[in-house]
Amino acid sequence: MFDKILIANRGEIALRIVRACREMGIKSVAVHSTADADAMHVRMADEAICIGPPPSSESYLSVPAIVSACEISGAQAIHPGYGFLSENASFVQILEDHNITFIGPTAEHIRIMGDKIAAKETMRKLGVPCVPGSEGGVATVKDAQRIGAEIGYPVIVKATAGGGGRGMKLARTEAEMESAFLTARSEAKSCFGNDEVYIEKYLTRPRHIEVQVFGDGKGAAVHLGERDCSLQRRHQKVMEEAPGPVITAEMRSKIGKICADAVAGINYRGAGTIEFLFEDGAFYFIEMNTRLQVEHPVTEMVFGVDLVREQIRVAEGLPMSFVQSDLELNGHAIEVRINAEKLPDFTPCPGTVTAYHAPGGLGVRVDSALYDGYTIPPYYDSLIGKLIVHGRDRPEALARLKRALGELIVDGIDTTIPLFDALLSEEDILTGNFDIHWLEKWLEENLG
Ligand code: ADP
Repeated sequence: MFDKILIANRGEIALRIVRACREMGIKSVAVHSTADADAMHVRMADEAICIGPPPSSESYLSVPAIVSACEISGAQAIHPGYGFLSENASFVQILEDHNITFIGPTAEHIRIMGDKIAAKETMRKLGVPCVPGSEGGVATVKDAQRIGAEIGYPVIVKATAGGGGRGMKLARTEAEMESAFLTARSEAKSCFGNDEVYIEKYLTRPRHIEVQVFGDGKGAAVHLGERDCSLQRRHQKVMEEAPGPVITAEMRSKIGKICADAVAGINYRGAGTIEFLFEDGAFYFIEMNTRLQVEHPVTEMVFGVDLVREQIRVAEGLPMSFVQSDLELNGHAIEVRINAEKLPDFTPCPGTVTAYHAPGGLGVRVDSALYDGYTIPPYYDSLIGKLIVHGRDRPEALARLKRALGELIVDGIDTTIPLFDALLSEEDILTGNFDIHWLEKWLEENLG
């Protein structure tokens, strides 16, 4: 059994992991940059070690600094949270070489899923439905045009090594293919150092639906339903919910079983998310994330499980604490991401929080590392908290979200709170009638 875990992250997710450790009786070690000496995760953890200066490349992404901190503190395992080193296969390999347990999947699984062509090929073989497209990489404009003609326009050219919505270009017609192909390739080269691209049919009005899976690394796996994360800005999720407003129980158990069987088939260990586009009743795989997601709390709320606790259990070699038939979906949960950003342009605006009050009451959860007087440093992501609500059904969750937003006070900085106040009076939000383009259009019409 682990008695000490190092958390290689910061902010709300580091605090989230400290909480799971404390409930399990495991000591936690926070690491931090000099800019985060006063951060909440540092205050809450049992121990804290400074690992470098403010830039992430010299602290939260510094493998030697993190491995040394682990050795100095005597922690047996590292939880990576999300972002930073969470999907870095060579980091995982280095931990293995140092006999430190990585709380997550194997380096090999991270590597496969980090390469989108390999991921798609693996999933296709495991029986997961994929977006129609090229078989593997596409090398020339001529090949791109031939494939475009075969699958039919519009198509999207995507970087194999892509992430964060970069390296993707749309070609509506054959005439647009040459420039889409060449731009995607050069963007892929400059962003990811790998210019390989592939082609997919472009779905015009899909929803983003992702399935939460969990494996014990020994061939047992379950699914925990889906999340609808269609409300996005620049391919970044803004608001998420579980269950998906248009997913029926029958669809859930069918796609859920396909996903659970797929990860069982590769002996996947830990939490994973299989992302799909969903259009006209059909699911199309786009990618798999081999880590805990920002939006994992909505799943926890409707299934009543602690996913971080389960991650720690399976990393220790224990079985999951549930089997599929134990998992019962209960009610509806919604999460909104509170960012330190100024509307309408979403410009990051770090600064000092002069007053902070978190909402409470039945069915309200706040995952945040904010406190009164905290100064948000300018070096990191602008996510400062997540407000999650749970209700017996979607209308109750929406009403609770509105009520909780009204209680939430974050003074001294600009935040995305007013965006959610406005969205909650939109008919389409209330009825669940949106696709992945809905929010961009709404922002243009209302804040543009
Ligand atoms: P990334 O890893 O960069 O986030 P994804 O493959 O997950 O890339 O795609 C990000 C987003 O881009 C999706 O959520 C969706 O909004 C859009 N997208 C990706 N592939 C397609 C497609 N074939 N058709 C339409 N939209 C797509």
